[in-house]
Amino acid sequence: MEKYDVIVVGSGLAGLTAALELCEKGKSVVVLEMNHVIGGRTSSWDEDGMLVESGLHRHIGYYKALPKVLKKADVDVDDIVQWEEQIDIRIKGSKENKTFGISPVFGPIETLKGIIGNNDILPPGDKLALVPFFTDGFLQYTQNPEELDKYSLREFAKKHNISEEALHNLLIPLSTGVFFLPPERYSAKVFFGLFLPGVSRFYKLRIGSYLGGMTEVLANPLAQHITKHNGIIRTNTPVKDLVMQEDSVTGVVLEDGQKLTAKHVIIAANLGGAKKILKNHFQNHPFFENIFRLPTMPAVTIQMEFEKPVLPVDRTTFGPLTSLASFAEQSRTTFKHVPGRMSIILTPPEKFLNMDDKLILEQVQKDGKTLGLDLVNGLTNYRVISHSEDFHSLEPNYDHLRPSQETPIKGLVLAGDYTRQPFFATMEGAVISGENAARLILEES
Ligand SMILES: Cc1cc2nc3c(=O)[nH]c(=O)nc-3n(C[C@H](O)[C@H](O)[C@H](O)COP(=O)(O)OP(=O)(O)OC[C@H]3O[C@@H](n4cnc5c(N)ncnc54)[C@H](O)[C@@H]3O)c2cc1C
Repeated sequence: MEKYDVIVVGSGLAGLTAALELCEKGKSVVVLEMNHVIGGRTSSWDEDGMLVESGLHRHIGYYKALPKVLKKADVDVDDIVQWEEQIDIRIKGSKENKTFGISPVFGPIETLKGIIGNNDILPPGDKLALVPFFTDGFLQYTQNPEELDKYSLREFAKKHNISEEALHNLLIPLSTGVFFLPPERYSAKVFFGLFLPGVSRFYKLRIGSYLGGMTEVLANPLAQHITKHNGIIRTNTPVKDLVMQEDSVTGVVLEDGQKLTAKHVIIAANLGGAKKILKNHFQNHPFFENIFRLPTMPAVTIQMEFEKPVLPVDRTTFGPLTSLASFAEQSRTTFKHVPGRMSIILTPPEKFLNMDDKLILEQVQKDGKTLGLDLVNGLTNYRVISHSEDFHSLEPNYDHLRPSQETPIKGLVLAGDYTRQPFFATMEGAVISGENAARLILEES
């Protein structure tokens, strides 16, 4: 039977970070990944002849942990990211395109300044209401975040007399664009929590698109660093179950029945995957029952190739009140091998999860037209890439159910963006969870 110090289940950023930290400290580590490609939700691959990615991603300038782990693998973020100076909001039915000097997603105050100077977007009454809305939101996040989690963003906005117009032109792009949820389903805690690091790290407020597929620019360099330190990474290796000895976890069982043993197992799967691995042994365990109560949330994207660029610049764009939550042209950044390329995150995701690809395409083309986008002419290829149960729900009242990385079971540690860390469902959050998981093991040995 194969024996390791640590088995890591899942090769997303959480799993790769944990493996890298442990290998560097001399632990024998194997990473087991069920897919044919590493990277999880930050991956890219050839899908029946078209290069695709897990979804449109933006690197945020205030991330610290992700650049740090990349640095260990000799990757400088500035070399793999093209920073965006501006972002766009396209207003349905309007020919005009609202462009802001900084991302409203991660530069709320700068953006607010831009918006406050712009009477097309917000009438004067709304500008005044937004100040207490944001200050109160940040204050409550720091003082009583669990109370804030009881409100949806829409409810919190209503409490602060934010008009429907401000909601449509500002808060819907901010909320739907980032986590694909409309404001009535988006926890106010998640909304303000995601913005808060940006307020204290103003100078880092910018977002960037990756200059290459994410497996290529993120996951592969981390994997190379792991193998350089004698770690092993296996793809096409789904884990089915845990091996238990008395009350301790001592290994895993693969889909083909093979058993691998280790002193420690880190489950760094997405939430849906983690539930499947844990359910045989821990469904009724008091520590794990919250994980089973924490719902998953889907994400659906459509990725399209064109004979020429659809948009004049590769820039993050929001399409409030349409199915196009956020999107970008990518032919000058991530997918330079094609003359035109769009990646679009769809909302509401549940509507599109089981829809026929052709119907999704038609709906997106129709909605694109209302935003002034021609997504019909020159289309040469498209793929729909879905994530049915990768995310934990960001709706109100669930955040307290997220588990810590530490578990009461000897030999078992959790990692993944759904586990408790301050950056919600982001790459930075995944990396922090992986660091925490590695630290727990290193402290124990
Ligand atoms: C469309 C989209 C857009 C996003 N945009 C952004 C963004 O702009 N900025 C940002 O910071 N974040 C963004 N994110 C979120 C970010 O990608 C995730 O938070 C992060 O990548 C999660 O990493 P993880 O390691 O926790 O999980 P994952 O990346 O999901 O990794 C889990 C891995 O475990 C594997 N696995 C599961 N079960 C098993 C099993 N039984 N056996 C073996 N392997 C298993 C999976 O195949 C997967 O590879 C986006 C995500 C999506 C989908």
